[in-house]
Amino acid sequence: MTARILSGTAIRDQIFAELKEEAARLAAEGIRPGLAAVLVGENPASQLYVKSKIAACEQLGIASWLHTPPASSETGEMLGLVEELNRDENVDGILVQLPLPSQVDTKKVLEAVNPAKDVDGFHPVNLGRLVSGRPGLVACTPAGCMEILRRNDIPLEGANAVVLGRSDIVGKPMALLLMHANATVTICHSKTRDLPEIVRRADIVVAAMGRAGYVKADWIKSGAAVIDVGTNTVKNPKEAEQLLAKFPERLEKFRAKGSVLVGDVHPDALFTAGALTPVPGGVGPMTITMLMSNTVKASKMRRGAATTVSTSANR
Ligand code: NAP
Repeated sequence: MTARILSGTAIRDQIFAELKEEAARLAAEGIRPGLAAVLVGENPASQLYVKSKIAACEQLGIASWLHTPPASSETGEMLGLVEELNRDENVDGILVQLPLPSQVDTKKVLEAVNPAKDVDGFHPVNLGRLVSGRPGLVACTPAGCMEILRRNDIPLEGANAVVLGRSDIVGKPMALLLMHANATVTICHSKTRDLPEIVRRADIVVAAMGRAGYVKADWIKSGAAVIDVGTNTVKNPKEAEQLLAKFPERLEKFRAKGSVLVGDVHPDALFTAGALTPVPGGVGPMTITMLMSNTVKASKMRRGAATTVSTSANR
C-alpha cells in the first residue's frame, strides 16, 4: 500500500483563493495589504525567492515594494531602512530576505522590525507570543505544515508527534504549534539517542534536519503522517541511486539533469507511511503561501479591519 499524498500545491491553491476573497473584502473597506521586501546584494537564490514572493502578492492583490540596498550595506543603513518601513503606514509586512551580507548584524536588523509587521514571525516578541499561545505572527514554514495537517484532517489531539530538528525557524515553532494543538511532542536533534526507536512511536513525524533521506522507511510506524520539510539537492549518482532505487522515473530524470531534490525522509517511506508530503510539492509551496497569509493577517490586526469572515489560514 502506498501513502496518501499530502499535496502542498493543492493547499496553496485553496488558501490563495481564500486570501484573494479576503483581499477583495478588505479593498471594499479601503484597505490594501502591503508587503515590503528587502533584498540586499545580488545572491541569485535570494533574488529568485523574492521574485516569487512579489509575484504571489501581485496574484492576490497585495501591494508590494522591493528595496535593493547594495551588498556593501552596513548594519546602520539596514536599521535606517527598517525604521523607515516601520513608520510607513502603507506597509503591513516587512520581509528581510536572508542571508544578509556578513558585515551586517542580522539579529539586530530582524529585531528592529516592528513585531506587528514581522510577517516572517522571526521577532522574539512573536516567538514569545507563540510560546504563551497568544495571537501573533507565526513563522511561515511551520505554520504551513500545520495547514497541511489540519486541512487533511490528520488527528492531532493526543497524537504522538516527533519533530526532528530544533531550529528557531522550523523545529522549535513547529513543536510549539503541535503542542498547542494538544499533541504530545518529542523534539529530536543531533545529540538525540535511539532516533529510530523514537520515530517508530510517532503518529506524526515532522522532519526538518537538512539530511537527504536520513529518516528510513522502516522507522515510520504503519499509517503515520509524515511532513517532510527537508529540501536537499542530491548530485552524487551513488546517493541518488540508493535513494531512488524504487523510483526509476525519478532516477531517469536525475541522470538527465545531474541533480534531484530529496527530502529528509527516504523516498521509500511512501510504502510505509499512511500519509506523506512529497518533495518537491509538499511543504515547499506552503512557505510563500503563509507569508501571504501573514501579510493579510498583519494588515487586519494593525489596521483593525472590520472584516468578520476570516480564513483558517489567517485567523
Ligand atoms: P538547521 O537550522 O540547519 O537545523 C537543522 C536541525 O536538524 C538542527 O536542530 C540539528 O540538530 C538537527 N539535526 C541535524 N542532523 C541531525 C541528525 N543526524 N539527527 C537528528 N537531528 C539532526 O535547518 P532548518 O533551517 O531548520 O531547515 C531544516 C531543513 O528544512 C533544511 O533541509 C532546509 O532546507 C529545509 N527548509 C525547507 C523549507 C521549505 O520551505 N520547504 C523552509 C525552511 C527550511 P542540532 O540542533 O543538534 O544541530
